[in-house]
Amino acid sequence: MLRTIDLRGSRPSPAELLALVPRAETDVTAALAPAGRIIDEVREHGGQALLDQAERFDGVRPAAIRVPAEELRAALEALDPAVREAVESTIARVRAASAAQVPVPVTTVLAPGAVIEQRWQPVERVGLYVPGGKAVYPSSVVMNVVPAQVAGVRSIALASPPQADHDGRIHPTIAAVAALLGVDEVYAMGGAGAIGAFAYGVPDLGVLPVQRVTGPGNVFVAAAKRLVAGVTGIDAEAGPTDILVIADASADADFVAADLVSQAEHDELAASVLVTDSAEFAEAVRERLETRVAATKHSARVRAAVEGPQSALVLVDDLEQAAAFANAFGAEHLEIQVADVDATLARIENAGAIFVGPHSPVSLGDYAAGSNHVLPTGGTARHVSGLSAATFLRPQQVVRYDEAALRAVAPVIATLSAEEDLPAHGEAVTARFER
Ligand code: NAD
Repeated sequence: MLRTIDLRGSRPSPAELLALVPRAETDVTAALAPAGRIIDEVREHGGQALLDQAERFDGVRPAAIRVPAEELRAALEALDPAVREAVESTIARVRAASAAQVPVPVTTVLAPGAVIEQRWQPVERVGLYVPGGKAVYPSSVVMNVVPAQVAGVRSIALASPPQADHDGRIHPTIAAVAALLGVDEVYAMGGAGAIGAFAYGVPDLGVLPVQRVTGPGNVFVAAAKRLVAGVTGIDAEAGPTDILVIADASADADFVAADLVSQAEHDELAASVLVTDSAEFAEAVRERLETRVAATKHSARVRAAVEGPQSALVLVDDLEQAAAFANAFGAEHLEIQVADVDATLARIENAGAIFVGPHSPVSLGDYAAGSNHVLPTGGTARHVSGLSAATFLRPQQVVRYDEAALRAVAPVIATLSAEEDLPAHGEAVTARFER
């Protein structure tokens, strides 16, 4: 089961902590070369490459890459009413939170007639990825599409892998949720090929390049996003999932074990990490884990994840050291299950999303909290944030000075342009006062 990293009695430096955090052997860097070859195939051979890749990786050749409008409509009509109700509830919560989080325009008046405005412009066209390999993720349709719509994106395209057990069509629930949200440009394509198709366009299929590619996916999807990041915008590397739980003796060992298993269920490369200051509590979680891993439906996948080098049980002296470890790890999902939640929360700098207290499990955020589940993985939460409406918006500064305000600041420009030996900059200002 979970290997142990025992930090008790030691005070590792920040650099030492970084070297100690558990990571998967197959990380995004290792997937860059294959992902690059797959993207190149799509750039060279277009739709043909996407069909071949579907056969190679998804075990099925779709009838067409573009999903017909009738298929989307029919999927929505056939959607189980209970599932539709659950999806609509998630949509309402994510829409309400996303709309409230839209950054507001700001006007700063620096002096009379000297005004800087900052406005937020949506990107024009986006490509949204919805995973569908080991599991299918209709919830990711909501998490991608709703913030894009809230941001005011005009053109939304969506991709998900073709499914062998649905004759090469995308999963019907994914098709239904796309239709429910009014998205009609949908493609049956998966993995790095789909990301390449969005970034560069596929002329023979009429797929136009996008200005942002977002969405979760496996290590090949995350690698492809890193590769196209100079060509198009990306949200974050939302790859194989991870959970880090900070818990003390006051926590419920069974809740913690259940949460560690829930994220391990996604992928053999998923990371489940427990950081605790109580060796007794650690043992209790280990016991509950044994039982839960054996009993859960995807037991083999979960076992591979929790026994992988990316997962660990970390013993620390105190919760201050636990927070330092969590900051070095940069968890996608951080749970805090300790007696004084706010004291630990105050020490956290790096995390994709933070779940506090015994009644905020990660799976709440996966489906129904109203927060977004597309979050940075592999330690990238140390420099980037999760998906939100802001991902699809760009701040633009608008400069509005009148004559008097420019005259007042002219000496500053003259001095700095002379200092930089760019006199034409100063002359562009003085020219306005020479008439
Ligand atoms: P996926 O759609 O991401 O991957 C399937 C695709 O991967 C296939 O269509 C194929 O194109 C490609 N692929 C498969 N094997 C390949 C190979 N050997 N070489 C090259 N390409 C290959 O679906 P999945 O596999 O189920 O993975 C979903 C992932 O998304 C999981 O790792 C899960 O943890 C992650 N996830 C992350 C978040 C997040 O926000 N970080 C949220 C949800 C899910």
